[in-house]
Amino acid sequence: MNPLAKLDQKFVWHPFTQMRDWARSEPIVITAGKGAILRDAKGREYLDANSSIWTNLHGHQNAKINSAIQRQLKKIAHSSALGLANEPASILAQRLVQSANDGSRMTNGVIKPKQNSATDNRHFQKVFYSDDGSTALEVALKLAYQFTLRTGDTRAKQKSARAAKPRFLSLDGAYHGDTIGAVSLGHIDLFHKAYGGMLFPTDKVMSPYCYRCPFNRAKPERADARNYRQCHWECVGLVAKKFSAQKKKGNPFAAFIFEPLMQGAAGMIPQPIGWLKQVTDIARAHGALLIADEVMTGFGRTGTAKAESGKRKAEILFASHHENVQPDFLCLAKGLTGGYLPMAATLTTQKIFDAFLGEYKEFKTFFHGHSYTGNQLGSAAALASLEILQTQKSIQARTQLEKSLQEELSSLWSLPNVGDIRQVGLVAGIELVKNWRTREPFALRERAGIRVCEAMAKRGVLTRPIGSVIALLPPYCTTPVQLQKMISALREAVIDTFQT
Ligand SMILES: *Cc1c(COP(=O)(O)O)cnc(C)c1O
Repeated sequence: MNPLAKLDQKFVWHPFTQMRDWARSEPIVITAGKGAILRDAKGREYLDANSSIWTNLHGHQNAKINSAIQRQLKKIAHSSALGLANEPASILAQRLVQSANDGSRMTNGVIKPKQNSATDNRHFQKVFYSDDGSTALEVALKLAYQFTLRTGDTRAKQKSARAAKPRFLSLDGAYHGDTIGAVSLGHIDLFHKAYGGMLFPTDKVMSPYCYRCPFNRAKPERADARNYRQCHWECVGLVAKKFSAQKKKGNPFAAFIFEPLMQGAAGMIPQPIGWLKQVTDIARAHGALLIADEVMTGFGRTGTAKAESGKRKAEILFASHHENVQPDFLCLAKGLTGGYLPMAATLTTQKIFDAFLGEYKEFKTFFHGHSYTGNQLGSAAALASLEILQTQKSIQARTQLEKSLQEELSSLWSLPNVGDIRQVGLVAGIELVKNWRTREPFALRERAGIRVCEAMAKRGVLTRPIGSVIALLPPYCTTPVQLQKMISALREAVIDTFQT
């Protein structure tokens, strides 16, 4: 066994991994990467088909990001944001706010004229930095909680402290991270069983999982279930019901938390067009704050805007903007630094910010912070990544990759174990089933997804499943030949695993 693999097995405890299984075979030890390719200690090459767990946007060893980090490293790697400002974090905050507001002015590929953003309380004005997706959500959660206590419904305030506790609504199956607040917001039974006693209660509402929706009366077809569904938007009706019921209790929901366009770790569950706009309108009408978890969907992952012919092809970087939704909180992490360094940001509005202003002795301060907040190396990487994203070259490459992905994926419908193929921009989930005609699922213990991914790894393509769903998130630099290889490895792996 490779000596590094030995060291790993002896000392490292891996995340979300049954370590008994881990010890059974020699782990792949990555030692280098270039573009969409990862190289291991034995010199073998793999395609990084999930962008290193959804983080890496422009490929490994990107020249622009590399040199941005090197330039910053010659100045300083890190100084504290507690009591000090720094150069790249200040510039990055401005750029993030700009790009998160610009897209919101876009409808059908046309940018609306600039509003007076200082008076528009729907526009982002502030950036709170942290380290990863979970903390980005923790920050939004704590801010929303305090904001609601300070400004919220007076009827709720007058009741006992317990009754007045701000309540949060999120989607069934949701995953928002692994810290206690983030797990509380999530609705994955396995995690709630493990940590139930440590969590605080939150509410959930049906997510629009068309493929397995009890309201969808359509028989299975060889197409994305969203496109042939037969329903009356019952899922939206349930959201409305949930909000009214909570209002009747005298303590309307403080915030609605969602992953826009597609829920990632829930199993790559895409929302039918129009769902997001409808449910966020309902939430707004009930006075709830909107917390968009764009940890996976942010930074162009959900595709470029479909501009009308002849009109300016403006870029949308955030999924919320595809449905013209401007949330009160935008949680960013994974792709923020282009997959280089752990860094996160929670963007919010002046209205939220102002609720934390006061004399020192009023103790309205937001009491929260991390040692590496606003890290300079991470900020430099993020600035370089944003610059790349906004070039015409990158926009064109992503538009093309999205199209090619769609074409390549269509070849998988011929496999009887493929039940649903769900693509949103540059992310796809392929749901494996026992029988596509009945949608009969594999039991988790059958490890269908894990087995297929192992077979893909043997063919030089790396990704991780979510249960029986294979996730594909190619880096934006993936070439047509590399994309073909990813899909054909998946096709062969499915055939090998189930049809022997
Ligand atoms: C990965 C992820 C998180 C958690 O981010 P970490 O950086 O792993 O803490 C939260 N929300 C979504 C949607 C994610 O995909």
